[in-house]
Amino acid sequence: MIAFGPVPSRRLGYSLGINHIPAKTCTYSCVYCQVGRTTHMPLERQEFYPVEQILAEVGQKVTEVAEAGKKIDYLTLVPDGEPTLDLNLGKIIRELKQFGIPVAVISNASLIDRLDIQQELMEADWVSLKVDSVDEAVWRKINRPHRRLSLPIILEGMLAFKQKYPGKLVTESMLVAGLNDNERTTRQLCNFLLELQPSISYLSIPTRPPAEAEVTPPSPEALQEIIEICSEQVPFVELLFESEVGDFVSTGNLKEDILSITAVHPLREEPLRAMVSAAGGTWRVVEDLLADGSILTILYRDERYFFRRFKKSGPKESITQSF
Ligand code: SF4
Repeated sequence: MIAFGPVPSRRLGYSLGINHIPAKTCTYSCVYCQVGRTTHMPLERQEFYPVEQILAEVGQKVTEVAEAGKKIDYLTLVPDGEPTLDLNLGKIIRELKQFGIPVAVISNASLIDRLDIQQELMEADWVSLKVDSVDEAVWRKINRPHRRLSLPIILEGMLAFKQKYPGKLVTESMLVAGLNDNERTTRQLCNFLLELQPSISYLSIPTRPPAEAEVTPPSPEALQEIIEICSEQVPFVELLFESEVGDFVSTGNLKEDILSITAVHPLREEPLRAMVSAAGGTWRVVEDLLADGSILTILYRDERYFFRRFKKSGPKESITQSF
């Protein structure tokens, strides 16, 4: 299936996904990739699916959604591989415009130095470029790129693209424990983001089973430090800590459930409230955990995130700066 969804997305609203690249055809083999290890790593662009087939599937979905009385906010090229490897990328973006819905592309940026790809992406309304690290050694460890790719060339390509792109450019950085979660890599990343000046720089963490089992999100302490550094330096950073609490099953001990979930990934207030109420509890249990220092809360752009605190050192004040 090429067209899937639409699914609610924090970045793009109600987004219809378009998977126009065969699974695991990518220029990277990121350690955190949810699709598993890359099995086909070309640098040459090629045709994968006929444009007519893509348009027919998207058209059918658009009709179904309209008949259901719903609205699609974005048609999003978000394949299980790298979208810019598709030789038809420009044509697909252009043809998708016939539906009158903004088009988004989520790319790993590895080929962004190429002028043909820059030109094709110019026609998209929203482009996301990946930048997990601007340190070549760290980039090689996290993204495990094709051996002929070069990080300085990619970063130059991103800067050149930003200069001419009229749409909304965002970046996304995945934070991985032991790789890019230290002060040095964070400051390096912030400096690059300040130079690039995207509309928004999203920070995210692995929350679903990654390609490599040993890949984990940074500890709450490391995350807190990263957030504090970014808050001082980069005004357009946003957290994209999606928490999958839809599958939450109560073990009968709400306190333990909150501790175990927040130990794995931060929870936003809204899903945490939903979780508490689904378990028949009250918000008092969260207040008690905050009061005894077991969890802490960070206010970020008017949204509260709850983290597990591993070093129990008594009640702590919330970090309340807005950035
Ligand atoms: S760039 Fe995306 S699809 Fe490619 S390996 Fe990384 S996470 Fe997976």
